[in-house]
This record gives sequence, structure tokens and C-alpha cells, in this order.
Amino acid sequence: MNTTKPEKWQQALTDLITCPEELLSLLELDQSAGIIEAAKTFPLKVPRGYVNRMQKGNPNDPLLRQVLPLGLELTIVPGYDKDPLQESQVNPVPGLLHKYHGRVLVTLTSACAIHCRFCFRRHFPYHDNNPGLRGWDNLFAYIQNDPSISEVILSGGDPLTVSDHLLKLFSTSLSSISHVKRLRIHTRLPIVLPERITASLLTWLRELELEAIVVVHANHPQEINEEVRDALFLLRNASVHLLNQTVLLKGINDEVSILALLSETLFDAGVLPYYLHVLDKVEGAAHFDLPIERARELHRALAHRLPGYLVPRLVCEEAGELAKTLV
Ligand SMILES: *Cc1c(COP(=O)(O)O)cnc(C)c1O
Ligand code: SF4
Repeated sequence: MNTTKPEKWQQALTDLITCPEELLSLLELDQSAGIIEAAKTFPLKVPRGYVNRMQKGNPNDPLLRQVLPLGLELTIVPGYDKDPLQESQVNPVPGLLHKYHGRVLVTLTSACAIHCRFCFRRHFPYHDNNPGLRGWDNLFAYIQNDPSISEVILSGGDPLTVSDHLLKLFSTSLSSISHVKRLRIHTRLPIVLPERITASLLTWLRELELEAIVVVHANHPQEINEEVRDALFLLRNASVHLLNQTVLLKGINDEVSILALLSETLFDAGVLPYYLHVLDKVEGAAHFDLPIERARELHRALAHRLPGYLVPRLVCEEAGELAKTLV
């Protein structure tokens, strides 16, 4: 057991804004219909430091729009499901998804520091799928028994909401499986709670016997302030490969100028754009969706403006496919 006093980032995690009235009043905005109802299906959760990057008095702020529950979410739209990727069918042991060749996805926790309204996991049955320490034996046995697995991906919930102690326990066991070469971490924390990148986390990464890849998730250049840039530089100096994934969101980043600036800003912070995801058709997120033609057009325009390495791959996920599908 870790009995030391919580670190700054852990305190920030217990001090998230979860009350819609508080968020609106901090931003000097009026209450709007449906917020409370929408927050009941998927609660509001946002770090204070992230809210500080929002513009006061602007109900359409691109950061606010990512987290504010809206009555619109309650509209049932045909074609939008609770489990759009049918992940419950590729779940051989609790906490592990094996969908693509050579890679397994592991969820260590159901917790996130932020609740993104468009998240495809907003209805995911995490409580049934959280291995807990006791479930780790099964999980490692599964990985051990399949020599084709060369990469383990820690994914959402957000794996960096877990303590350094637990991360280290996990990676130590993982390193003993000789066919596993890489540990990939999908996390939004460097963007939404950069204080998570502590000296002790960096030490863990530096000492890791596996090649480390961190895939962050930023959707708008306004998310990347000085603290975020500093955190990303620290990761890079710890020899971590840094990539970003973005979700294409109507009303938030569906303009070439915004996407181009996002790529440039990420690169300046040492991060390469990896994926631009078309929205997964999850119930409650239909108002963020764009016609696929518009997505293609934006991607083409982006490719005409930027060097190739700054153009993320436009992808969507289709249930049953062996990789993400290039759009
Ligand atoms: C996206 C994803 C991966 C990783 O895919 P890459 O194309 O290697 O980034 C692995 N497993 C699942 C279930 C995924 O959704
Ligand atoms: S899993 Fe990622 S996208 Fe989903 S709510 Fe958590 S941080 Fe946001």
C-alpha cells in the first residue's frame, strides 16, 4: 500500500469539476436546457486547468464543447449505438481486447480525468471489464500464450490515472514476457492534466525495458498551452515516441485552418500526428458527426497544405476489420 500523501496530480484528480452549474458560472455562461439530464447518462468531468484554457462567455468554445453535456445528446438517432465497435465480442479475458494482429489492448482502469462527450466508450461496461490486480494473472497468461503479441497497448479509461507504483508492477511483469517488445500508452492526461508528467513517471519510462510509445489525444490547438508543451518535452526527453490522435468533430475542429494549426502546434511540441478519427457512431454523439465526404475533403485539403509527416491518417473503425480502415 502506498500511504504517502497524494501527489499534486492526484489531488487535481480529486478536485475535478463535476457540477455543470459550477462550470457555467466559472465561464460566465447561462444555464441551458437539458444539461442536467444529459449529465445523468454520462457525468460531467473536467480538470480545472483545462477549464482555464477556455474562453469566458463563449458557449461555443472548442474546449467547452468537448466536455459540456447538452440536451442534444438525449436525441435517439438511428444508426448510433451503445457499443458501436462491438468490442464485447473481442474480449477473451476481462480487461483485454484482442482485435488486431500482434497487439492487445489492456484497460487497467475505467477512470478518466475528463469525460469527452463524443467518447465511444461512454457506454462501455467497464465495471464488468476491470481486471483488478487479481485478474492480472489471467491477463498475463493470455499474453504469454500468444507469441504473436509484440505490443501491449494501455488504453481507456486513462491508464495514466493509475499510480506509478501500479504501472511499474504491470510493466515489470510484462517485461518478463520475451515476445513483448513495445508498451504503448493511449492517454489524454498530458493534454488535460499535464502535471501528471512527474519526475517519478519519467524515471519509470526511462527505466522501462520495453520501447515506449505515448499516444496523446488533442483535438484543438487551444488545448496545447505552455504547461502541456513542457510536459510533452519532458516525455520526449525520456526517449518516448510521441504520437497524437484526433477525433474529427463538427463545430470543434472541422476546418482546415484549425487542423493545420493543430498539426504544427503538435510538431513544435515534439509530437507527430498519427490518426484523424472519423467519429464512432455512439449514441449521444450524433451532433458531432460530419458527412464522410466532408471528412475526405478536409483531409485532402490538409494534405495540400502540410508536409506528409504532418498529415494524420484519416481512419474509421469498423467492427470485425483487422485494422483501422483508411477512409
Ligand atoms: C486502435 C486499436 C489498436 C491499435 O491500432 P493501431 O493501428 O496499431 O494504432 C489496437 N486494438 C484496438 C482494439 C484498437 O481499437
Ligand atoms: S477514454 Fe479518452 S476520449 Fe474517452 S472520455 Fe476518456 S479521455 Fe475522453
